[in-house]
Amino acid sequence: MKTGYALKNCQVIYGDMRKKADTNMTILINEQGLILDIGKSNDLSVPSNYETVDISGKYVMPGLINAHVHLFADGKPFSLSVREGVLNFAYHHILDTKIGRSVLKKRMKKNAITALHAGVTTMRSVGEFFYQDVQLRDEIKANEFVGPNLLVSGYFLSVTGGHGAPYLALVGDSPWEARKNVRINVKNGVDLIKICVTGGVTDAKMVGEAGRLQMTEEEVAAICKEAHKLGMLVAAHVESTEGVRIALRGGVDTIEHGAEMDEEIITLYKKNPNALKGYTALIPTLQAGYPSAKLDRSLTKVSETVKENSRLVYDSMLKGVQQAVKYDIKMGIGTDAAMPFVTHYDIWRELDHLMRQTNLNPIQLIEKVTKVNAEILGIDDLTGTIELGKQADLIVLDQNPLDNLKALADISMVMVKGNLIKAPAVKKMKEVDELLDLVW
Ligand SMILES: [Zn+2]
Repeated sequence: MKTGYALKNCQVIYGDMRKKADTNMTILINEQGLILDIGKSNDLSVPSNYETVDISGKYVMPGLINAHVHLFADGKPFSLSVREGVLNFAYHHILDTKIGRSVLKKRMKKNAITALHAGVTTMRSVGEFFYQDVQLRDEIKANEFVGPNLLVSGYFLSVTGGHGAPYLALVGDSPWEARKNVRINVKNGVDLIKICVTGGVTDAKMVGEAGRLQMTEEEVAAICKEAHKLGMLVAAHVESTEGVRIALRGGVDTIEHGAEMDEEIITLYKKNPNALKGYTALIPTLQAGYPSAKLDRSLTKVSETVKENSRLVYDSMLKGVQQAVKYDIKMGIGTDAAMPFVTHYDIWRELDHLMRQTNLNPIQLIEKVTKVNAEILGIDDLTGTIELGKQADLIVLDQNPLDNLKALADISMVMVKGNLIKAPAVKKMKEVDELLDLVW
């Protein structure tokens, strides 16, 4: 049995714009890790067996949710000498052994714990090898170790020669093959389905290939019908306007990355009869494109093709983000952690970048990375806000994030499902941070 906690004298940011930040509050967390009560510190009596933690002068808000990560890597960029193909080969032939898989899982666990200590209490992992993500999720659920809440997709679904194929994806070339691949992932215990509708920057061999359409509308529709039958959401990797159109028509629930929109696309995002909830949300990942696109190649060591594809994808994705804000399309927050230059510990960079590139303010962005993300991922009954009956997934900050989002870079305490981490420790990668600081 866990301890109950009383977090005393907090300044609470609820993660819900309708509720104003409150001062001098106490939050009671019961032994099951749920929020039992919230009230003014003077009014609330603390059960005698609860541990009291004084939060005076600090800020408490819901734990961060990262809606787009991969756990298999830490964001340290591949050097020029290691081509993606070589890396994929290595993953499949070296890691697909008993020892290899255990090495991989240890690394995934380390990345998940890094994210947790950086304030990310929920991660949606969208593409991993060998269903190690499913195992990791189950170990956390069984309390084998304290980790973030994980939602996992297992392998991508892709087409022959498509993004992530063959090592990171199950390949299907017709609606029925695609349906079968949904069933395979479901049988292996995934929480959601991740599909690749277009190519991607990491494995594109020429400029323009990243956004090239790969999956057909019929294949997307078959996947969505099969997943929705089980109440499961479909996330679509898409890096071009035509790709977004096909994905939306097919009925996906989230567009990952995204691209510039036209009128048909704006309408379909807001009202999509084929999506599970009747709309489709956008999860941009600006962090995945920005450094490779903007930093000099002598620093990033990426190829000319990667730089140019990053620039094309980033520019179009940013236009999509600005349109989503303008047309009030539901938008969440993801980073694509694991990709080159995207670490598991600096989701604040995504929020800061979004703030600079749109008219969104800190409270709106904080709501997106907590409450709105939980709604999009279908877990808002469990987490995403500080509310009675919800899981105690929260973070404590020394500085006010509403004044400066960079306050999120320095987490004082983290609680996930009532497990309190009093002194979170994140091992940062200095050489990566120094490069990123040049453009942040
Ligand atoms: Zn990704």
